[in-house]
Amino acid sequence: MECKDPKCPTHGHLKTHGYQIEGVVVSDKAKKTVIIEKEYSTFLKKYERSLRNTSRIPAYNPECVAAKVGDTVLIAGTRRLSKTKSFVVLKVLNRSSK
Ligand SMILES: [Zn+2]
Repeated sequence: MECKDPKCPTHGHLKTHGYQIEGVVVSDKAKKTVIIEKEYSTFLKKYERSLRNTSRIPAYNPECVAAKVGDTVLIAGTRRLSKTKSFVVLKVLNRSSK
């Protein structure tokens, strides 16, 4: 399949910045957008405990990538694509077996 998406990081003109994040897709309901969830922990010095948090990042999902819920994906920072999106899915690292 030929990819004609201008916002595709591999076939289009979209440039990505340096840093990349791995995450799991939790929602693919919106058109060409997926929500990625990533768990991180912050250490609270005051209580000497670490706190587990999840962050949700909306990312652009190009046609040729087509990430689905449950997939582990690699996303990269890019220019702001919409009000909330400033990340793009580069590739699927692990397809969910469903
Ligand atoms: Zn593409």
